[in-house]
Amino acid sequence: MASTRAYAVQDAVTPLAPWTINRRDLKPTDVQIQILFCGVCHSDLHTARNEWHNTVYPCVPGHEIVGKVTAVGSQVTKFKTGDLAGVGCLVDSCRVCENCKEGLEQFCANGMVGTYNGNEKDGNGNTYGGYSKSISVHEDFVLHISDKLPLEAVAPLLCAGITTYSPLRHWKIGKGHKVAVLGLGGLGHMGVKLAVSMGAEVTILSHTASKKADAKRLGAAHFVLTSDEAQVKKVKGSFDFILNTVSADHDYNLYLGLLRSNGVMVCVGAPASPAKIPAFNIIFGRKSFAGSLIGGIPETQEMLDYCAEHNIVSDIELIAMKDINEAYERMLKGDVRYRFVIDMATL
Ligand code: NAP
Ligand code: ZN
Ligand code: ZN
Repeated sequence: MASTRAYAVQDAVTPLAPWTINRRDLKPTDVQIQILFCGVCHSDLHTARNEWHNTVYPCVPGHEIVGKVTAVGSQVTKFKTGDLAGVGCLVDSCRVCENCKEGLEQFCANGMVGTYNGNEKDGNGNTYGGYSKSISVHEDFVLHISDKLPLEAVAPLLCAGITTYSPLRHWKIGKGHKVAVLGLGGLGHMGVKLAVSMGAEVTILSHTASKKADAKRLGAAHFVLTSDEAQVKKVKGSFDFILNTVSADHDYNLYLGLLRSNGVMVCVGAPASPAKIPAFNIIFGRKSFAGSLIGGIPETQEMLDYCAEHNIVSDIELIAMKDINEAYERMLKGDVRYRFVIDMATL
């Protein structure tokens, strides 16, 4: 066991604070990574505060991990010491169920193991995430990271990137599609960049007027302020696809009304309360109300390679580990352009 510095929450109401965890001894198939940067996802906050009612404490959040390989087990073939490496939202799965065989490990029928707040398959208990100095992960769940892009801005691709890339690919979004991205936060701004890169005409639907200034730079063709009824009315029945990234409770029906016939709204945002949707709102216009969860390991590698090729990274604000609690408060207020990333040298 290697004692490792980390930041943890001990319950749903106490702020994150320094804590020491024990990382497992390196297994023959493990890659040990020195964590250099870790992105701050809104799921970290939902989990730290037990908003999904499933948090096991103490909890060390963080699943947008990038760093350097410091050791490899004797059977590791895909990585060597010194390589750049990434870890996203999952660190293990059964490998033998239908979903795992298809590379959809996030839907493992026997339960995928989350990078944090997950249950280790070998019975070693709760997993601890990236708000820490190092992590050891089976090589099958470690991603290759290009050295062409700024490493700190690559970190958010491991969750925000794949979570938006995967549904855009699944619904074959490209040229000729009118796409709206609802909520311009960590996920949303990656959704805009990726959908634009795939050739779609992208509209940002945001309840924050000041974000309009960034629309053009991110590549969006239009910006609609969702609190302005007149602006919303103008885009009624106009989108083929809405990527809904909103983290808080909101009225899904308003946005279903912005889809044209056969349109799809994919929810990736995971507010605490259930959605209330009258069947008529999807019956008329044969609309689809869908969801998507991160992405499997092969698709995550595909997304990282795609971003390296197309020069796509996250817009980030680098923070020190000690400022994490303030970052959570600012994220809740929408005061982040567009992803906090923790510099692990400060831990
Ligand atoms: P984030 O950076 O906080 O962005 C969320 C955005 O939602 C905000 O920037 C804001 O955009 C909008 N929003 C927030 N409160 C709102 C309100 N009261 N009414 C309307 N809009 C509001 O969060 P994130 O990291 O992108 O994560 C977004 C959600 O996706 C979270 O629920 C997270 O847990 C979930 N998630 C899901 C997956 C998955 O696999 N499905 C993966 C990662 C994260 P505007 O200011 O532009 O309106
Ligand atoms: Zn996440
Ligand atoms: Zn499986």
